[in-house]
Amino acid sequence: SNGEPQQDCLFCKIVAGEVPATLVRETDTTVAFRDINPQAPTHVLVIPKAHYPDAASLAAASPELIADVVREAGEVAALERIAVPDGGPGTGYRVVFNTGSGAGQTVFHAHAHVLGGRGLEWPPG
Ligand code: 5GP
Ligand code: ZN
Repeated sequence: SNGEPQQDCLFCKIVAGEVPATLVRETDTTVAFRDINPQAPTHVLVIPKAHYPDAASLAAASPELIADVVREAGEVAALERIAVPDGGPGTGYRVVFNTGSGAGQTVFHAHAHVLGGRGLEWPPG
């Protein structure tokens, strides 16, 4: 895909303001908003405004844009005060790109999950 908005894409509708979301941050190229079904005290989604179906296609199309998304994930963690390198349980955070339905991807507009504020098991379930 070429980054153009997709008519039936939920996250393109959030970018367009056609579906409401609780915004955390916005840049020229990205939007960060709270997940509607949070799995941790901090659960924020960072998306490129441009539509790509998953992180791999985003990275292939625009390394700069996926770098924007990853940088914004760090900005969100700092805002949420979980960007603590050695703070013990409940600090630190995880950035996840679920890729493919078998891995739990349900929305096919690339997005990074930023999760933190509780203990996070490794490996994940
Ligand atoms: P995925 O499963 O594709 O990795 O992540 C999609 C995420 O989008 C899920 O965590 C889900 O809770 C979230 N989500 C689905 N619909 C909405 C919505 O309308 N608004 C918001 N804010 N999050 C949504
Ligand atoms: Zn989209």
